[in-house]
Amino acid sequence: MKTIHGQSWNETRFCPNNPIAREYVIALFGDLAANYDLDYIQTCQYLFNAADIDQGGTCFCKHCIVEERRTGFDLEAAIPVLKTNKNAQPERDQWLAFRRSSTTKLYREISEKMKAENPTCHLRLNDVFLWGGRPAGDHGMDIKALAPYLGSLVNQDHQEQLGRKNETFTMRKRWLATNRTLIGPDMHYVCGIAPRMHASAELVRAGIKVALAHPAKVNGLALKHYDGASFSLMRAFKQGMIEAGVQGLSPTLGKRWRK
Ligand SMILES: [Zn+2]
Repeated sequence: MKTIHGQSWNETRFCPNNPIAREYVIALFGDLAANYDLDYIQTCQYLFNAADIDQGGTCFCKHCIVEERRTGFDLEAAIPVLKTNKNAQPERDQWLAFRRSSTTKLYREISEKMKAENPTCHLRLNDVFLWGGRPAGDHGMDIKALAPYLGSLVNQDHQEQLGRKNETFTMRKRWLATNRTLIGPDMHYVCGIAPRMHASAELVRAGIKVALAHPAKVNGLALKHYDGASFSLMRAFKQGMIEAGVQGLSPTLGKRWRK
């Protein structure tokens, strides 16, 4: 990943337009799908950063220049224009659109490779942001455009772990509604619940109730995460599901210590 001044941005991030990185990543997903009997592979990789152009926004590397030429946009010519004025149009919007299409393209190729290797394994996006209220193109990801290549989506919603008393889960409700409109009515949709240290049994139960009662139609819950989750919070998780009407769970009976 390169900034507009040609400096590397975060050595651990690859550019999806680098053919070597792309080939490696697609092969990695393909190998996992083919050989590990997985139902899905989950990623929370946002390929581009959210920084503005003059703050180190990515990417302006040589591979992006080559790739953009194919789409009819001359990034090389746009660089000096955007250096002088980061809001210059149409260069800025073309650059943002190119980031989004680059992300969609990589995930499409990953999804196609996975399907070819194992039709029962799908790609899941772990969405780490609440997109409502964020500018379109932030991080170069367009969930609506990505949706046809996803098999499921999970909101990485960790509200419970903040331990707020009388939490009404306003953000959870908005997040669930926003992403449901982006992924369409039928995609398997999972809500994160965080039974972590600052959470309380009441918050976990209330958070589950909000998720399962939401009109966005949640198909599953994700326990985020078991690190730091006490047994009492794990029991609250199960109890919350029972209270919310999830079928097939045995009642929580508690545990007695025996000598
Ligand atoms: Zn690049």
